[in-house]
This record gives sequence, structure tokens and C-alpha cells, in this order.
Amino acid sequence: MSRRLFCVGAVFCLVGVAAALFGRPGAEEFVLSERARRLHQRAIVVDTHVDVPYSHFSKTEFDFSQRHAPDWGHVDIPRMREGGLDAPFFSIYIPATVTGPEAVKRALQLIAWTRALVERHPHELALATTAAEVRRLHREGKIAVLLGMEGGHMIAEDLLVLRTYADLGVRYLTLAHSRSTNWAGSSGENDNRPLTDFGKQVIRELNRLGVLVDISHVSDQTFWDALAVSEAPMIASHSSCRALCNHPRNMTDEMIRALARKGGVIQITFVDTFLSQELYEAQRATEAERNRRLAALRDLFPNDPERQRAERERILEEYRRQGPRVSWERIVDHIDHAVKVAGVDHVGIGSDFDGATMPDGMDDCTSLPKLTEALLRRGYSERDVEKILGGNLLRVLEQAERVAQRLRGR
Ligand SMILES: [Zn+2]
Repeated sequence: MSRRLFCVGAVFCLVGVAAALFGRPGAEEFVLSERARRLHQRAIVVDTHVDVPYSHFSKTEFDFSQRHAPDWGHVDIPRMREGGLDAPFFSIYIPATVTGPEAVKRALQLIAWTRALVERHPHELALATTAAEVRRLHREGKIAVLLGMEGGHMIAEDLLVLRTYADLGVRYLTLAHSRSTNWAGSSGENDNRPLTDFGKQVIRELNRLGVLVDISHVSDQTFWDALAVSEAPMIASHSSCRALCNHPRNMTDEMIRALARKGGVIQITFVDTFLSQELYEAQRATEAERNRRLAALRDLFPNDPERQRAERERILEEYRRQGPRVSWERIVDHIDHAVKVAGVDHVGIGSDFDGATMPDGMDDCTSLPKLTEALLRRGYSERDVEKILGGNLLRVLEQAERVAQRLRGR
């Protein structure tokens, strides 16, 4: 044991003894914070939804090795280190309006860009494609970057394209994004047509490839149909609980329970609109007016996409300021609710960092340790917190790997 470690340990024990003997709240606080800090450091923290590729692709000025202010993205290497974010799934995402060969081209570009980003920082980052690799990289002190693909439109209805993505390292596929595909329904369109035969083939191929089936963004019917077909446990990569915020992007208790019964995991998302019923309702009340103003920007600033983007941001920020504030503690409420519904083995986190507005106090990935402390404070055991932070997701990935081996051995 190093001298420094010994000193920290000694102080830790003394304060613990003092807290036990005298019940001083200050000392107890210190002990709990210290326990949370160590636990967070030791745990493998997996976040199944981080939009780094989409938000930084084609921007040369963002140096991932430098620390940026919280208002410039939510993630970079120094901030991942500080926040103890060990294994982010970087999202391969292009808008659902882009389809066919163009969608495939752009998805491949994003994958290549992300792999190149990882290769540029070989001492800090490495691509991981299995749970065992994530564990090994964590032991080596490296951040394990995984790839998740957000939207079935990118496979262009071709299982060989899907297989190519898997070969390049993609480890989950969100069946649909904001629009339905020809084979899977989106919650964005409340499309409750049944999953088609091709959709079922996609699920079987995902199982065979060891790529996780992700049901965030899909319609309720597509969720149920996918659940019936999938031989491997499924994930919701970034969804929260409809019982607390009745947004179609969230899951009902019945869905969370069914997902868990087949071994899956709901990765609670931090997106403010999906956490707070009040904010969701306020946004719906102004939706028509907001959309009208946003649509007018094209005519107001023709041939000036930069200005359009800036004005768009300004308008969205204006509505954000008017709406009710949402605290980061709502994330813990959703985690807690999902645990009560499905059990502690079936809940994790999928932030949507770099892709959405975060609640107050979750400024960027350096705020992640707050969740660990809050869960301990609510009486969760250290073992259970480790499961929520990443253990559950790694278990599901391992199960999917085993299903793939079995199916390929047939
Ligand atoms: Zn999303």
C-alpha cells in the first residue's frame, strides 16, 4: 500500500469511527461521499447513448483530448476521466429522413470517423466489441468505446449491410428512429402496425450476429413483436419511465416488466423532456407555435444555413428558459421507479449526452458520480449500484454473445 493510500485509508477509518461513536452528521456525510467516490471509481460505468459522432463529425476544431467547458458538448477525454465514464456507446446516427444508399454511405462515414477518433488516442481509448474486452480495457485503465446504431433506416433493408456494420463493431441496433421504416414502427409516428416478416428476420440476424436489439424510439407494438421474436435479451438504450413522464419515448411499467422477464435492461435516459411530465406538457402546449417559428427560418434566411442553425438554437433556448426547470435528481427517481418495477438487475443508464438537453445539475459527464452518491443515499447497496452503473448491461451483452454462438453453431 502506498503511503498516500495509507493516509487516505486512515483518515477514512477515523472519520468512520467518529461518525459511528458520535453520530455527527458532517462526519457521516463525509463517509458516504467517500464511499460513493471509491465505488464510482471501481465500478465499470457504461452509458449506452452518447452522441459524440453526430455532434462532432465534420468539425475539425474539437480536440477530444482537451477539456472543454460544459457548454461545449458534454463529453471529451478529460471529462470522461473525471466523471468515471468507462464505456460509452458512441451513437451512429443520421436523421431518419435520409434513407437508401445515402443512409448507408453516411453511416459508414460516421463509423469510420469514430474508429479514427479512437485510433488517434491509443493511450486513452480503444474500441470494444465484447463485454470481456470492456472489462479488460477497464483493468488497463483505458476507456472502452462501443458503437451503437440509432435507427434501422441505416441498414437500407439489407441484411448484408447489417452484417457489415456488425463486422465494423456495431453492437446494438435501434430498430427505428423518429420515423417508421418499412418494417418497424416508430413511437414518433405512433405507428402500431405489426413488425413485418423482414423485421422479424432483422431481429433473428441481430441475435445471430450478437448485436443487441434496441427498442428505444420504437412504437409499443414493435416493442412487443420484437420481444416475442428475440432469443437474446433486449435493451432500451435510452428511455425512461412512462409512469413518471407520459412521453411515448418512455416505457410503461408493463413493458419494463416484460423486458426484464426476458433478461433485458432499461437504460434510463437523462433527456429533460423524458424525465418531467410538467416540462413535457409545457413543450406540447407551445409545440405548434414553436414549429411555425422554426419553419419560417428557411424563408427568413435563405441560403444561410449557419444563420438558420443559430436562430434555431436561440428560439429553442428561449422556450427552454420559459419552461419548468428539471433537476438531475429526476434521473434517480426514474432509476428508482424502474428498479421497483423490474428489479435491480434490469436497470442502467443511457444519458444522450451530446444529443439532448440535460436536466439542471447534470451539466456534462463529470456529473455522473452524483448518481452513485444519490443511489447510496437512497439505501442502495454498493453491489446494486455497480449493476446499475454498468454491470447489468455487460451481463446482457454477454448473454447476447452466448446466444450468437449457439445460433451460429447450429
Ligand atoms: Zn435518441
